[in-house]
Amino acid sequence: MNNIQANIRFINTRIERAALASGRDPDEVKLLLAVKTVPAETIALALNDEKTLIGENKVQELKSKYDYLSGKNAEFHFIGHLQTNKIKDVIKYADCIQSVDRIDLVQKLDQRLQHEGRSLDIFMQINTSYETSKFGASPENAIALAKEIAKYETLKLKGLMTIGLFSAEIEKVRPSFRLLKQKQLEIQELGLPNQDLKELSMGMSQDFETAIEEGATIIRVGTAIFGDRIYPDSYYWNENKTIR
Ligand SMILES: *Cc1c(COP(=O)(O)O)cnc(C)c1O
Repeated sequence: MNNIQANIRFINTRIERAALASGRDPDEVKLLLAVKTVPAETIALALNDEKTLIGENKVQELKSKYDYLSGKNAEFHFIGHLQTNKIKDVIKYADCIQSVDRIDLVQKLDQRLQHEGRSLDIFMQINTSYETSKFGASPENAIALAKEIAKYETLKLKGLMTIGLFSAEIEKVRPSFRLLKQKQLEIQELGLPNQDLKELSMGMSQDFETAIEEGATIIRVGTAIFGDRIYPDSYYWNENKTIR
């Protein structure tokens, strides 16, 4: 067993512990590897017989690692900010887009998918921390966006995603997760066509146990498995900011 697999094994132990402590079945919680900046060869070390969820933030990175990894037992989720001019590329490689957060993106995705005669699994990203530096639909717009998505048979809304507040104080992060759960219940109550909204993608290296307590079904972990990154996350989360 290599280091990466040992780290994953430790994360899985923590997932199990957190799930059991909050009366949940550990099998309800899936681990997605957040692999921004991680080379394909390193990601490959994480793969085994079971299907692995892999999350990429940049279309370019997804593209460049895809060939190396595509024959392997992996499912690719796009978790970064998506510009409409990248749609054609991203749907070539991603099995699911977790970062759908605005109407023009929904409409352009539908147009492209119709053109290709296919459908796609998506999540809606919600900005539960209200920080302007984060992408995602505002919680107040979530219902309207869900209704818009429901108009298109090409788009299968499977769940919600959030990044949540960044804070070392975990109790300040918890309300973000609670809010995502609440939005899930509100949208589920509408009973919109094409939407089962089972998944809640929330929780990262620093806060995934709290997210599991609040109902996460997918946690997205990078640093705790692959180590620190050299780029600041703002590079990935807000493209208007430049690296200094
Ligand atoms: C980088 C990233 C993660 C993982 O963050 P870590 O703190 O490294 O675990 C999760 N979700 C998104 C959207 C990310 O960009």
